[in-house]
Amino acid sequence: MGKARNILILGGTFEAAELAKSLVGSSGASVTTSLAGRTSQPLAIAGEVRTGGFGGAAGLADYLLKHNIDLLIDATHPFAAQISRNAIAAAKLSGVTLEIKLRPPWTKQPRDNWTCALDLTAAANLLPRGARAFLALGSQYLDVFRPRSDVFFIVRMVDAPSQPLSLQNHVVILGRPGIERNDEAILFQQTCATHIVCRNSGGVRGYAKIEAARDLGLDVIMIERPIAIDG
Ligand code: NAP
Repeated sequence: MGKARNILILGGTFEAAELAKSLVGSSGASVTTSLAGRTSQPLAIAGEVRTGGFGGAAGLADYLLKHNIDLLIDATHPFAAQISRNAIAAAKLSGVTLEIKLRPPWTKQPRDNWTCALDLTAAANLLPRGARAFLALGSQYLDVFRPRSDVFFIVRMVDAPSQPLSLQNHVVILGRPGIERNDEAILFQQTCATHIVCRNSGGVRGYAKIEAARDLGLDVIMIERPIAIDG
């Protein structure tokens, strides 16, 4: 990495922003972070920022060549599987070096009440009738819970929804995930959550909800990662 002159970070995560900060300060390279553009108010990022899709793996490969990128770093969210596949293909097409820096998954600790789900549909089916389920998921993952009119949903979202949610019984809590376990615990208690539904994203930032659920003895429906990629 020391010799790279033009670095492109595929970002959209806290860790990618931290990486950009450290590379801008230490590498001497020109550092650009790429965002998909899903969030209206992304975190501040050191170095250059570009926003929007590339047009698939071929588009990304073109971008790498056109901008003389000599190091591509995939620091995207572990559930952003498409862009990670594109990164692998684009690196092969362009010959640019790829580093993959995805967060390791969380592992179940003593006192964690986790039920693992292979995907969102399985998670929706695992909720018992009458549950109050705190959905710590992005807004694009809610439709699958629509048939569960026997469950009350507490939906945390970063941005206010542009149209009413399709869920029957729900409340929306606006905000980013809490960093302190006590803040998450207070929120779970205030909303009378019985279950937390989340994905095994790993990382420090989202872990407070897992610790809070452990402290309160809540059930966690933990959605497993998409099939692992190598490279
Ligand atoms: P995805 O399904 O893997 O990617 C779908 C398409 O979005 C890609 O094919 C690409 O379009 C574009 N894209 C994704 N990430 C991009 C990036 N960093 N820069 C430019 N284009 C990008 O991605 P996703 O799950 O929608 O996630 C989008 C972004 O949000 C990622 O940057 C990810 O790190 C961040 N994020 C995702 C999650 C999550 O749960 N999935 C959570 C937190 C943050 P083209 O094919 O046109 O290039």
